[in-house]
Amino acid sequence: MRELTAAGFTAYWAGGCVRDLLRGIDPNDYDVATNARPEQVRALFGPRRTLAVGESFGVIIVLGPKGSTDKVEVATFRQEGDYHDGRRPGQVSFCTPEEDALRRDFTINGMFFDPLTETVHDFVGGQGDLQRRLVRAIGNPRDRMTEDKLRMLRAVRFAAVLDFELDAATAHAVAEMSAEVTIVSAERIAQELRKMLADRHRARAMQMCADLSLLQQIVPEADESSIRGNPERWQSVLQILGQLSTTRFETAFAALLRDVPQPKTGKQRLEPASGTVLAACLRLKLSNDETDHICWLSDHRGAIEALPEKPLCEFKKLAVHPLYKELFELERVAARVEGRPDAAYGWAEALLKAIPSDELDPPPLVTGRDLLARGLKSGPKFKDWLNAIRDAQLNGEIRTQGEAFALLGRLLGQ
Ligand code: ATP
Ligand code: MG
Repeated sequence: MRELTAAGFTAYWAGGCVRDLLRGIDPNDYDVATNARPEQVRALFGPRRTLAVGESFGVIIVLGPKGSTDKVEVATFRQEGDYHDGRRPGQVSFCTPEEDALRRDFTINGMFFDPLTETVHDFVGGQGDLQRRLVRAIGNPRDRMTEDKLRMLRAVRFAAVLDFELDAATAHAVAEMSAEVTIVSAERIAQELRKMLADRHRARAMQMCADLSLLQQIVPEADESSIRGNPERWQSVLQILGQLSTTRFETAFAALLRDVPQPKTGKQRLEPASGTVLAACLRLKLSNDETDHICWLSDHRGAIEALPEKPLCEFKKLAVHPLYKELFELERVAARVEGRPDAAYGWAEALLKAIPSDELDPPPLVTGRDLLARGLKSGPKFKDWLNAIRDAQLNGEIRTQGEAFALLGRLLGQ
């Protein structure tokens, strides 16, 4: 900012960081808006400190001092031409700060701040709406949502995450146009869902999405199974979301899809049955890790409650899974909300404390290599033998390799 102003340009913090600064919150990132043209920004900071990723729409990334990972988006005050595809503007042109403010989505996101004089430049009534805790589209809400359908999801996200109200006219425009949200790419929809579901206000976010008919569009599986299919269940899902303390998007998404079937048919990545958890993950183009996480939680619904009736090895195998904590939290919250006895959770918690860590996941007594060394041929039975030996070990039925081979002998004799 100092370098830009020293060179005679105007430079302001812009958008979300101003909103956060005025709320007394540390911004995630700082964006700069300036009257310097992209080529002037490049000339000022030099080619080695700048990245021209968005030069055609006026955005240059300026890197921090050598060795730092800081980077700041420096954008020339700009207007956007016609939106031809409901998502991206056709072309941009450079303009005044006021015109730049008017192209932004919501009044609270439309302010500038000059850190050198500590002045807020507010052309859109953002300060008043921040005080009133209101998310309001800049200009005509319908027109703004028509230009860019992603704004419908952003409106809900900001209202939920900031715990603000959605302005009535803005909400009305969203409700009227919700069916058009599907024009937005799966990646961008998923990105908004991640931000909404990872946040502690996730229940309100999903409630608002459902009330505005957005959720039915972006996660139709939830609509079929609960929102429309079974409104009482939808209230439970909202309660579960509200009580979850996880910060993981995946766990919250599994909770949202609590009533959506997830048939255990192994890997069917290519053609998943419609209306399943896997189908929802694939449609939203979630990452493989996210999809695995969500499907694992869905596959293990009710698993902890079944454990007390099962051999100890089943408990140990589940408890060492990296997502066990997430499963435990989700299942316990769900049991309480759904009015099931939650004794199994207390039992599991006590058991986990009581088992010494070297007994929870001890090194295996016998490996595949040991079996090969004994002259056994690898084949479909191989895994069954190893599993049976492992289970016996975890159950405390065998403790030495000798005992393991004795068990193997009995298995082979069968
Ligand atoms: P956060 O980064 O916390 O999600 P943000 O407000 O910084 O919130 P960004 O997506 O980083 O959001 O965008 C920065 C600014 O760019 C916004 O504050 C807003 O002024 C403007 N902006 C972003 N996306 C849009 C959009 N789809 N339509 C209009 N303006 C937008
Ligand atoms: Mg931002």
